[in-house]
Amino acid sequence: MQYQVIRGKRKTLSLGINREGEIVVRAPNSVRDDEIADFVYRHRAWIAKQLTLRNRHPHFYDGDAVSLLGKQYVIAPGTRIRMAGDTLYLPQENREAALAALLKRLTRDRMKRLLDEIANREGFVYTKLTVTSSRGRWGSCGASRRISFSFRTAFLPDPLARYLAVHELCHTRHMNHGDKFWAEVERILPDYRALRDALKGYLWVMDCL
Ligand SMILES: [Zn+2]
Repeated sequence: MQYQVIRGKRKTLSLGINREGEIVVRAPNSVRDDEIADFVYRHRAWIAKQLTLRNRHPHFYDGDAVSLLGKQYVIAPGTRIRMAGDTLYLPQENREAALAALLKRLTRDRMKRLLDEIANREGFVYTKLTVTSSRGRWGSCGASRRISFSFRTAFLPDPLARYLAVHELCHTRHMNHGDKFWAEVERILPDYRALRDALKGYLWVMDCL
């Protein structure tokens, strides 16, 4: 395993991955090379995990693959933002702002469709759908039954988006995460536990854009 060592006046060893995806060890001046090698070896599982997470993190460069609404796209340069077939055309200038605007539109359409479908079938009532830029939460439901979702949910596959829609709709009946709330979620989505767990694998989405 290759890594870069930065020595300095510090007391402990630390491990990190830099923007280029290289492993960087910060070490006190007094620590020997073999001790550093041993430290890196002992943390190999952590390193592997970080590198995997990094690979799944979309960067939005030309040629990168990105999954939107559960479908894979390859990014290509374009004069304006556009989805055609399995290509996502992005402008060179203000690429991230253009993408965020697109994800807001996609999120609104998908979540509105899901909310309306589930609400009509299950008899839920919500008053308004808002799309936010939240990095902290996927969605929320306010006291007046206003539901919001982060535009970052556009990176989630459909079953997880559906779980979020069910979750927030159930809050229109139970404004907490008590037993009655989860019983309601389970009635609609019997496998909600697996979906809730799978969602934890997507926390990296909160850091992009
Ligand atoms: Zn909740």
